[in-house]
Amino acid sequence: MNKITLFFVLALIHLASCQNSQKTLPPVAQTPVDTVKAKPANIRFGLDLDTYQVQQGEIQKNEFMASILGRYNVDYTTVDELVRNSLDTFDVRSIRPGKKFWVLSDSDSANAPPNFFIYEKDKLEYVVFCMGDSCYAYTGQHPTEVVTRTVSGVINSSLYQAMDDIGMGPALALELAEIYAWTVDFYRIQKGDHFNVLFEEQLVDGESIGIKNILYADFNHSGESLQSYFFVQDGIGDYFDETGNSLKKAFLKAPLKFSRISSHYSKKRFHPVLKRNKAHLGTDYAAPSGTPILAVGDGVVSHSQYKSNNGNYVKIRHNSTYETQYLHMSKRACKVGDHVRQGDVIGYVGSTGLATGPHVCFRFWKNGQQVDHLKEKFPPSIPIHEENKAAFETTKSHVRSMTDSLQVNPVGSPNI
Ligand SMILES: [Zn+2]
Repeated sequence: MNKITLFFVLALIHLASCQNSQKTLPPVAQTPVDTVKAKPANIRFGLDLDTYQVQQGEIQKNEFMASILGRYNVDYTTVDELVRNSLDTFDVRSIRPGKKFWVLSDSDSANAPPNFFIYEKDKLEYVVFCMGDSCYAYTGQHPTEVVTRTVSGVINSSLYQAMDDIGMGPALALELAEIYAWTVDFYRIQKGDHFNVLFEEQLVDGESIGIKNILYADFNHSGESLQSYFFVQDGIGDYFDETGNSLKKAFLKAPLKFSRISSHYSKKRFHPVLKRNKAHLGTDYAAPSGTPILAVGDGVVSHSQYKSNNGNYVKIRHNSTYETQYLHMSKRACKVGDHVRQGDVIGYVGSTGLATGPHVCFRFWKNGQQVDHLKEKFPPSIPIHEENKAAFETTKSHVRSMTDSLQVNPVGSPNI
């Protein structure tokens, strides 16, 4: 059943149950006659609007369902029944000023109470209130169209600003930041970084209602092109670089090769040195003094210093979300601003600061909060499987042909 047929069927179902008069069925449902060119039906909300008297309005401040419907000669008993019967579908108390509504009445009788009151919840969804022998409501969605677009931009201050400059809302910036969360530190974004994004946008009546999916992006960061391709593997859609590696990165489970956990993350534990209960927002790994401490992921060193409690410690920013911190080192082996790779030695186990014996207190930061890394669910970092490589290559060339055909506008101007 195609979309249009479905509309007619839905329209018929609702007409059949909402009518309080013997309205004839819309002519669109009849078998088309070749000789007579039928006027295209004005279908909206699953109803043929040409068969009704249609009045449109906008909800005003302090306006309620009862006051609006009252203006259209709907009596209070009907409003009350409608409100009660539609509670499961839509609570009429949540109608908002500024939203559009439509009132549909029989086209042949003036001032007759309406058959339908339609409230547009947002650009996609609407609620149809039926007033007839029985009163009730149902929700519907406007038909949507998906278009593929490409946009390019240059970053001068932030990714959000760059998207704004080319007339794109923050949604695309957020999606892009999410894709590159593991590879680009958006706090250290460079002026002149640029991007090219191929994405699907959802439209209703030719107006954008949001981004459906990013199919491909090329983010040029500090002169390096970072490509990402959307590909569904094992039923999960993910982004991969041109060689088929996931853009997500896994962290090492621990900052030491061989170690044992001597104390877990806890909001409340008895501190061995302070002799009182204190939150322990890290995981202690005990190991002999001088054991190399490894960076658990790629990143940039943000702190490398000595402090009375932490002793010698190092903090690494991995991306816009995650940071890790390593305390009580006997010696530090990196300085602020160093780019470190996963597994690089950043210092050595010691007992400097507030520590009873040699260990690393490993602290894991997520969005500026210390969390228990052993309880965190990290995204998988699985590359394209051998058996999917051919399909991935096909996706890549398909995406490239789409960007080639769509890339006709100069940088900064969106095109459809
Ligand atoms: Zn600790």
